[in-house]
Amino acid sequence: MGPTALIDLSALRFNLQRAAQLAPNSRLYAVIKANAYGHGLLRVARALTAADALAVARVEEGVQLRQAGVTRPILVLEGFFTIDELEAASCYQLEVAIQQPEQIKLLRDHPISQPITCWLKIDTGMHRLGFQPDDVEAAWAFLNNHSSVSKEVRVMTHLSSGDDLSDPATGQQLGCFQAFSERFKTATSIANSAGIIAWPDTRTDWARPGIMLYGASPMLGRTGLDEGLKPVMTLKSRIIAINRFSKGSPIGYSGSWVCPEDMRVAVVAAGYGDGYPRHAPSGTPVLLNQQQVPLIGRVSMDMLNLDLRSQPEAQVGDEVTLWGEGLPAELIAEQAGTIAYELFCGVTQRVEFQEIAS
Ligand SMILES: *Cc1c(COP(=O)(O)O)cnc(C)c1O
Repeated sequence: MGPTALIDLSALRFNLQRAAQLAPNSRLYAVIKANAYGHGLLRVARALTAADALAVARVEEGVQLRQAGVTRPILVLEGFFTIDELEAASCYQLEVAIQQPEQIKLLRDHPISQPITCWLKIDTGMHRLGFQPDDVEAAWAFLNNHSSVSKEVRVMTHLSSGDDLSDPATGQQLGCFQAFSERFKTATSIANSAGIIAWPDTRTDWARPGIMLYGASPMLGRTGLDEGLKPVMTLKSRIIAINRFSKGSPIGYSGSWVCPEDMRVAVVAAGYGDGYPRHAPSGTPVLLNQQQVPLIGRVSMDMLNLDLRSQPEAQVGDEVTLWGEGLPAELIAEQAGTIAYELFCGVTQRVEFQEIAS
């Protein structure tokens, strides 16, 4: 007995529609890196046939999609790092981000069989991947004059602070990027989910929605529901034991929570071995019979405890929701000092996945 992750494919499709509605003049790369944010790479690729294209982080993720028969455009957001990866990108016709001189050297020194579509990535302020503004011109000139590169080199950048409407960084990044896009006159891509939701000027030719497809909001202090999105993953489990303890009894490892009165405590079959965050403190809500019930004590590997004082009817075998439908993952993430992205990616192998279509 352990948790199940229900994956609502209709909600996934609905959220893609929502992204298309918010960015009506952009084509969309559905971002499905990291096993589709923990939802299942192939499952999500197949459900999102309405997406113009797909994006992954690494060449091997793109190859996996091609080998499974996916024929749509696939963009590799980090590009290639070795000759083998360059050859795979060419052979499987993966689009690549070109973000550093080492990649240009590989292209120059190793002829490939079929030219590849390149996105020149400009670092406008994220300071992670991308050419610095002073080096963009040279990279642009190289890519436009090399036989391994398909015609129409495109340009992209990535936002560092789109989650915060009051942060001036996004405006500065846009200013920096526009200078290049006006001169190069080619297709551009800026927006991630935050751009699509909150920054109209970032909705250019191509947008790259990730987290919003899975129903969570990237915006500070907001949930997917606030953005008109539906949760895709619902993590459920069951109560496997109920015990009565007297006032003063310590609960769980280190006895970090002590019963303030005589009370019933439930044990739920879900723990950090399933991807439930160990840092979720006492008081983190769990949904039981449509009501939020507080978690108490330390989360252990396979189990966690619930305060049943508000739930006199609760019985062994009752189902609980850890996040998803009725309990936004953003709430749990905030309690645990993380973000919904990490909760989704962290669901472990032993959790059973079940597809549903609501
Ligand atoms: C992950 C990623 C995205 C998607 O970001 P979300 O915040 O999940 O929408 C878009 N672009 C790049 C370059 C990324 O790495």
